Amino acid sequence: MIPALDPAAQPASLAVEFLAELQLRGFEGDIAQTHADRTVFATDNSIYQLAPQAILFPRHELDVVRIAKLGAEPRFSTLTFAPRGGGTGTNGQSLTDGLCVDLSRHMNAILEVNAEEGWARVQAGVVKDQLNAAVAQHGLFFAPELSPSNRATIGGMIATDASGQGSVLYGKTRDHVQELHAVFMDGTEWVSRPLSPVELATAKGRNDRVGHVLRVLDRIRQEDGELIAASFPKLNRCVTGYDLVHLCDCHGRFDLSAVLCGAEGTLAFVTEAKVRLTPVPRCTALLNIRYESFDAALRDAATLMQLQAASSETIDATVLALARQDAIWLQVRGYFPDDAEGPAQGVNIVEFVAPEPAALETQLALVEAALAAGGAGRRGYTVARGADAAAAIWTMRKKSVGLLGNMQGERRPMPFVEDTVVPPENLADYIREFRAALDRRGLVYGMFGHVDAGCLHVRPALDMKDAAQEKLVREITDEVFELTRKYKGVLWGEHGKGFRSEYVPAFFGPLYPRMQEIKAAFDPHNQLNPGKIASPPGLALTRLDSVPTRGQADRQIPIAVRQQNQDSLHCNGNAACFNFDPDDAMCPSWKATRDRKHSPKGRASLMREWLRLLTAAHADNASIRPVRWVDLPARVRNTWQARRGQADFSHEVKDAMDGCLSCKSCVGQCPIKVDVPAFRSRFLEAYHTRYLRPPKDLLVAGLEALLPLTARAPRLVNALTHNRVARDAARVLGLTALPQLSTTNLQSELTRRGFAEASPAALQGLSDAQRRRCVVVVQDAFTSHYESDVVLDFFELLHRLGFEPRWAPFLPNGKPQHVLGLLGRFRRTAARNAAMLRALADTGVDLVGLDPSMTLTYRAEYPKALGADAVPQVALPQEWLAQRLDELPDLQSAPRRTWKLLPHCTERTNAPAATSAWVKVARRFGLDLEIVASGCCGMAGLYGHEVANRKTSESIYALSWGPILQDPDHLDRITATGYSCRCQAKLMGGVRLSHPVQVMLQVLKQPSSVRLSRAVGELGLKP
Ligand SMILES: Cc1cc2nc3c(=O)[nH]c(=O)nc-3n(C[C@H](O)[C@H](O)[C@H](O)COP(=O)(O)OP(=O)(O)OC[C@H]3O[C@@H](n4cnc5c(N)ncnc54)[C@H](O)[C@@H]3O)c2cc1C
Ligand code: SF4
Ligand code: SF4
Repeated sequence: MIPALDPAAQPASLAVEFLAELQLRGFEGDIAQTHADRTVFATDNSIYQLAPQAILFPRHELDVVRIAKLGAEPRFSTLTFAPRGGGTGTNGQSLTDGLCVDLSRHMNAILEVNAEEGWARVQAGVVKDQLNAAVAQHGLFFAPELSPSNRATIGGMIATDASGQGSVLYGKTRDHVQELHAVFMDGTEWVSRPLSPVELATAKGRNDRVGHVLRVLDRIRQEDGELIAASFPKLNRCVTGYDLVHLCDCHGRFDLSAVLCGAEGTLAFVTEAKVRLTPVPRCTALLNIRYESFDAALRDAATLMQLQAASSETIDATVLALARQDAIWLQVRGYFPDDAEGPAQGVNIVEFVAPEPAALETQLALVEAALAAGGAGRRGYTVARGADAAAAIWTMRKKSVGLLGNMQGERRPMPFVEDTVVPPENLADYIREFRAALDRRGLVYGMFGHVDAGCLHVRPALDMKDAAQEKLVREITDEVFELTRKYKGVLWGEHGKGFRSEYVPAFFGPLYPRMQEIKAAFDPHNQLNPGKIASPPGLALTRLDSVPTRGQADRQIPIAVRQQNQDSLHCNGNAACFNFDPDDAMCPSWKATRDRKHSPKGRASLMREWLRLLTAAHADNASIRPVRWVDLPARVRNTWQARRGQADFSHEVKDAMDGCLSCKSCVGQCPIKVDVPAFRSRFLEAYHTRYLRPPKDLLVAGLEALLPLTARAPRLVNALTHNRVARDAARVLGLTALPQLSTTNLQSELTRRGFAEASPAALQGLSDAQRRRCVVVVQDAFTSHYESDVVLDFFELLHRLGFEPRWAPFLPNGKPQHVLGLLGRFRRTAARNAAMLRALADTGVDLVGLDPSMTLTYRAEYPKALGADAVPQVALPQEWLAQRLDELPDLQSAPRRTWKLLPHCTERTNAPAATSAWVKVARRFGLDLEIVASGCCGMAGLYGHEVANRKTSESIYALSWGPILQDPDHLDRITATGYSCRCQAKLMGGVRLSHPVQVMLQVLKQPSSVRLSRAVGELGLKP
């Protein structure tokens, strides 16, 4: 039995006092201060782990003013505050041991778009891709680019002066900011915009913090002009913090926004911004050039930019090899073919844009002519034309950091020198020395970046759990800092400084005291994100090795436990799971709650902390052994005490795990392959060694075995279970929205239609030709018993296609048991089922399962539980039909019909190739099947049937499926592959969705199809 866990560290009393007072002053936002909340906000994408005292989620600007005003009172002057957006910083920018102020949860509205004048007014928590999606209809976009564009906020981008691919053409975030709403540390609000000399003089006369700040800055600008010009590097890409060079814009107007952009939350809270929008380039093409070495790719970059390229990005062989293992490779592989010598050792992706197709083609012709002359180390190139192809390649490039993180083993790529910039002409020589520094230490690393701007991303692989390797962070950073100075570059070219700020005084030399003055003018008590960029005079900056790291926490967990928990421990916080897009499968529980505990990162962070606390409480693996009867009295007592409010950190973890739908989108889409459903099951198993399970769990775990019994009298069971009393009783148990059983008994009906059950003996008795035409349909409890018409239609389709379908004897699959964390029972169920399936498969007949979620369990959870050899291949319908494509009638030239497909999330994210196989198979039937971008339906098996989850389930549905199913253009032409999804659509939208096999059957059934008859005749199929 696991022990109760006491996190020990509680928020400091001053912070607790502040929070109480803040609420009294009318704060309308949320406050989170549990150990779980603090754990989840203790990390970003950096190596550090620093828990805040609490997290504040202001609802509007007034709440931010309330925080700042109260914080400035003398009694709270030792409290510190760090603004936070998407939390994607790579150097601890938003981490604090004070109070974290998260502006992303509530302050994320797009307030105004003026397409004519080309600007938008947004709150700070708006995500970059969210803004782009909103303005796309006007042919506009917010141009500064960054890899995590689907989760980084405009506030965070402003505070780090973000930029990325295309920065040579579009500049940095600062270049697109027209106005900023800032809240200073005493609560003063100021709308920062360029000021004419007269306006500046008036503002300087103000008798408040604004006036003081403007006076200090204007004086420094006038007195230290030469020093400023000499100290700031003249690079396209350099995040300087307190960008004094640009205090005056090109019209001679004074613009405070120059120093607020890139200030990393050390000067003020940014609550709102008016940003410039840029017309989307109408025509785009990418040249993907392959090289024999990475050095050759780097050295070629300058030549390529002379060809009037809009941008040029580079990727090394390590990153390319990792991309091959990602789902995105399916979309881009044609552009990166292997050469006779093998895969490319370096690639440059060079972008060309033009207003008209003809202009683009003229430009490409010139470029191709220039390339034809040859270049050192070039092997060949491909051209990708059009927005879709470009988007796929840029997505692959954007995923590079995440892909690198998925390097196997304990040494993982670490960000600390990952965004250095040198003048592009120095890049190849600089990188040669940089590589030598890493090679000398025997480190593995991948490289990619923006060669056009001299910015290269390098993350050396370290095992930060090893104290000796952790020391390399200091050693390498020192060395690389000196190298960047030698090559006239900067250590912090793109991602900002964060805890690397200790190098600022050395970098800026005599200008640093001026930066200290600026900091003191804005924030005299050093309360805003202290220790970063600049400290008021007399105070030191944080040293990078004085901050606790994630490795230090993880190394407290014994190696054996770590090895069993790789699926959570390697989460590196890149935050790809915070994707804002409602029409993307990742991660429904986070999108519906906006609570970061309910995300893959949140759950992985809690699991790591839980394992650490278990270790601290001296719990070993034996304490997680299966539940024993002798423990029952203790479990009853523990459960009773828990109900009475006895604290245990495990309850906080359980709450986060309970919110997970087990949809497996994280498994498919997290670049690190963090597998929440797997570790969630292990956690639940361990949790219930101490606490009793609710009766509902036992009912659901036995449901698959129960359903065949209920199917003997479905009408009676429906009558007994679908009346008010039964519904109330189900609610008491914690279950709701239960579906009705199909009234057609599947097996009787199949037998009546002449189909037979499969048995090894019967299959062995078939001739080779018969066996090839035979296919065994593996039943799943839910489609068979709740939607038997879908199974019947599948049989009929197969039959009409000339195959001989048989049904596998029904045995429970066990997925519900896995989801509930009844892992011992799952193993036994799986072993029995796998043995039956293995005996059938050994006859040489193919197995096919209809429901994606249940069928994919045979590929993921079964091999983990039983070993890969114990489980035969069970294909999804489209995979099997795609293998037999040549044997299907060809109706491609029949009148085309367009249908939409909403695949199950697990299928879409864990078997992307199978998802696209639907399109191929449907085409054969004369159907244009369009895979609709969508999020999760919210049902996900058990989840949506639980009373505790029903509200969130409905919120999830409303995010993506609701609008799709309300669109009258779609409605009668939508198919869905998941039983759960069809169930939710019926429940929420009153819509009966078909399975794609049913639509294909309809096509075959149409007697008017002359071509079909001909095909049937030719192939000798059964009409
Ligand atoms: C995989 C990956 C790739 C990346 N690639 C790029 C890239 O291509 N280009 C790039 O520029 N960066 C990149 N970054 C770094 C990071 O995404 C950027 O710095 C981004 O701008 C941070 O935005 P955020 O909303 O996540 O901010 P956070 O990380 O939450 O905060 C960043 C800083 O901004 C401050 N801040 C946040 N909101 C406010 C506010 N409203 N007011 C005042 N201060 C605020 C915080 O205090 C902190 O100092 C990458 C990060 C990752 C994980
Ligand atoms: S769960 Fe995956 S996607 Fe989310 S932060 Fe962790 S590693 Fe990144
Ligand atoms: S399984 Fe689904 S709901 Fe659960 S963490 Fe992963 S993506 Fe989120």
